[in-house]
Amino acid sequence: MNPQLLNQLPQILFRIGKAIGSDESLQETLVKISKLVTELCGAAACSIMLSNPEEKTLLGKAAFGLRRPDFTTVSFRYGEGLAGWVAEHGESLLVSDVDEDARFLSIGDSSHIRSLACVPLMHRDAVVGVLTVTTPEVDFFTNSSIDLLALVANTVALDIENIRLRRVAGTDALTGAFNRQYLDNHFPGMVQDAHERGVSLSVAMFDLDRFKQVNDNYGHDVGDEILTFVAKRLDDASRAHDVLVRFGGEEFILLLPGANLATAAEIADRMRVRLANNAVKLERPDDTPLALDIRISAGVAELASGESPEQLFRRADQALYAAKANGRNRVEVAPAT
Ligand code: GH3
Ligand code: MG
Ligand code: MG
Repeated sequence: MNPQLLNQLPQILFRIGKAIGSDESLQETLVKISKLVTELCGAAACSIMLSNPEEKTLLGKAAFGLRRPDFTTVSFRYGEGLAGWVAEHGESLLVSDVDEDARFLSIGDSSHIRSLACVPLMHRDAVVGVLTVTTPEVDFFTNSSIDLLALVANTVALDIENIRLRRVAGTDALTGAFNRQYLDNHFPGMVQDAHERGVSLSVAMFDLDRFKQVNDNYGHDVGDEILTFVAKRLDDASRAHDVLVRFGGEEFILLLPGANLATAAEIADRMRVRLANNAVKLERPDDTPLALDIRISAGVAELASGESPEQLFRRADQALYAAKANGRNRVEVAPAT
């Protein structure tokens, strides 16, 4: 591997961070990461597979430079193929020629794959996925390629784990947002991580304005339909790795890893505006469309040094209360502690 590529490292890590923090979908973000990793290693292709630890399988999630357009349908059991070996052992793998390695499992046309380097994505001692680079030349990668990949893997593992949890965690049956149980199970870990790594973590607490009136005027079923719609719209306006939780009846909480107070307030306000500027349109059984103006208020707080999840939520809730008191359809931020 060309040591010159190392010079690109800070720039590429920066661009990866930017991709993770962007508004794009998980798929787009991971494809972008694959492309940047390909560039960083001077490789021909890169793929990202994510774990399903319950089933002990890896699923193709995103790739760059591979011949298979259908990589997202590829799945390996742990122990199967080279990626499966890495997932099973939680160790990196450097293969100078896959044709000489009995573990290599060819899927479709793999004539363009000879050297391979593969590292596990680890989060809290568990494998959450694997990151693989390949080239058509033999003997291409070195131990420094592995070091480089491991560095990238460390950078992205937490974000990817948050995204993975999103798929397997408990979701709310009505709205598809995460449920309270998810929050109880995973938020303390997110808080601990933020404290340990010294990175920002913010939350935005949302409550629909005058929602009781909607139920009173149109019935509970229409209210339910609107809640589903609102959850989707909030989720669409969030970033790829933000997590939307249905906190209670018509209350939602958005977890914003990596966001400081100003960024979180900006995102919360974007959600508020998107909702306020677009009436919710519902089809009625008698075919008369119903358009309803729905408004939302939010309170935003950023995790302070040493703060517990409960203290953070309390401050977000107080800010939400202020948003209601100050006229609704607005975002208030909790003052720094
Ligand atoms: P505001 O928040 O602006 O002060 O007024 P509000 O009318 O929204 O008041 P509050 O948040 O206290 O009331 C929540 C109402 O939301 C009560 C109930 O009618 C409705 N609600 C809560 N959960 C659900 C639900 O799952 N489905 C439906 N349809 N309505 C719900
Ligand atoms: Mg409420
Ligand atoms: Mg309300």
